Amino acid sequence: MPAVNQSELTQETAAKQALMRVEDVHKYYELGETRVHALRGVSVDIQHGEFVAIMGASGSGKSTFMNMLGCLDRPSSGRYLLEGVDVSKQDKKALARIRNQKVGFVFQGFNLLARTTALENTELPTLYTRIDKAERRNRAAEALAMVGLSDLARHFPSQMSGGQQQRVAIARALVNRPSILLADEPTGNLDSRTSVEIMEILQNLNDGELTIVLVTHEHDISQFAKRVLIFRDGRIRKDEPLLNRPRATQVLRTLPTIED
Ligand code: ADP
Ligand code: MG
Repeated sequence: MPAVNQSELTQETAAKQALMRVEDVHKYYELGETRVHALRGVSVDIQHGEFVAIMGASGSGKSTFMNMLGCLDRPSSGRYLLEGVDVSKQDKKALARIRNQKVGFVFQGFNLLARTTALENTELPTLYTRIDKAERRNRAAEALAMVGLSDLARHFPSQMSGGQQQRVAIARALVNRPSILLADEPTGNLDSRTSVEIMEILQNLNDGELTIVLVTHEHDISQFAKRVLIFRDGRIRKDEPLLNRPRATQVLRTLPTIED
């Protein structure tokens, strides 16, 4: 009988189970003569249903890491497996397909189209799918409802507050029903109450099984997640579960409402 390597077997099983598996990833950027080493050997597993907050100083590699998780970019070396598929080996076209099906993105700047309503902004990512027009509208309306914005479907971005615009951006990220939501400083431009309102939405979505990875520079915001990774100089320096995390819904009851 051929010898079976038990540790290899265990690794294979773990790789299949992890939603996202990052193995010794390095990322270099070539800038003219210089070479920036943005990720220096990152390994981590993220399971289905997790809510991970990423913290770390500016330049520590957080966005580079997120771009890789979201298949916007590939590692220079090492492997990234998304649902067991080695993303590092896919070409640009395949990456785009995986991204559209599996990942929703939310950024600090909401990047909404100005002359386009909340509903139409939300619908945009469905234009690259084969879903028919009526169903696209349904899905956009459903996504807006998930962020509590059904009443503002016909509003333009200029008629909405920053928090409302960010909720549209979240709806837009959800419209293709991704299994992963990646948010890079989604509360960076928002006041503290509005930030907690956004975290309330993210916690509710995570309760519904959506896996979330969020970058934030605010400690208070990171505490709403279930796990915190701290990046330093392109490496993960700390990886801790959060026990007894606050529920944003409850925190909101203790915060004054802002009149504007
Ligand atoms: P963070 O999000 O933690 O601030 P980044 O991942 O954006 O960090 O950047 C990590 C390092 O990589 C920094 O030194 C940054 O200047 C560099 N970097 C990021 N993106 C690029 C790029 N597209 N081209 C060249 N260098 C980059
Ligand atoms: Mg960044």
